[in-house]
Amino acid sequence: MKIKVLGFYGGYPANGDGTSSYLIQSNGFNLLLDCGSNALNELEQSIDPLNLDAVILSHYHHDHTADLGVLQYYWQLHPEGRKQPLLPIYGHTEDPLNFGSLTWDNATIGESYSELSPITVGPFKISFLKTHHPVPAFAMRIVDEDGKVLVFTADTSYFDKLISFSDSADLLITDTNFYANKTGLKWHMTSSESGYLADKANVKQLLLSHLPQTGDLNQLVIEAQKSASDKLPIMLAQSNKIINL
Ligand SMILES: [Zn+2]
Ligand SMILES: [Zn+2]
Repeated sequence: MKIKVLGFYGGYPANGDGTSSYLIQSNGFNLLLDCGSNALNELEQSIDPLNLDAVILSHYHHDHTADLGVLQYYWQLHPEGRKQPLLPIYGHTEDPLNFGSLTWDNATIGESYSELSPITVGPFKISFLKTHHPVPAFAMRIVDEDGKVLVFTADTSYFDKLISFSDSADLLITDTNFYANKTGLKWHMTSSESGYLADKANVKQLLLSHLPQTGDLNQLVIEAQKSASDKLPIMLAQSNKIINL
């Protein structure tokens, strides 16, 4: 499994970098995980978007879906050269208006997922965990045919069920929107909580993502490391960062 970061900020793009989006590739299959602001520009650096096999969305907040409409236009405006007649876009159905917008005539088709049962998308088995967020959002556990495991927390505040859901993942990508000193109501995790989760779940490496636009981001790594084993590799998400599992 190859993971390429296309965008990593929470909320809005900054400094030329976009918001939540990742290209996940395995056995020739191209899965776009979230489609935030600037995702299409970044995706075009890697593959023709007509070569996507599927898109999956963790939730419908704009920083995860901002470029979805233009991706749909891209498919609509290119009837020739598509890898398949319609691009499947997977989303939850708890928000019927947004789920309905995933289907775009002669271009894309909405496909549903839920927490109740895992789905198969090409070479990937994907299971879901509803997170703690102001709108329905789902963490994903993505397993490829070689048994490699990617866990993506989506947007969430910390809760204990994330530990068993992330168990022994080869890579954990966490919503680390806050520095450790954040207090009060939180709908995202802090650096310390990301490190704690990775440590308790015994994951092999941790990628901090959904990052804030302020402060020295290296501080997030230092804070996460304090809550985890010294040996756990902890990385910051960056555009075009590639991780092979
Ligand atoms: Zn977000
Ligand atoms: Zn969100």
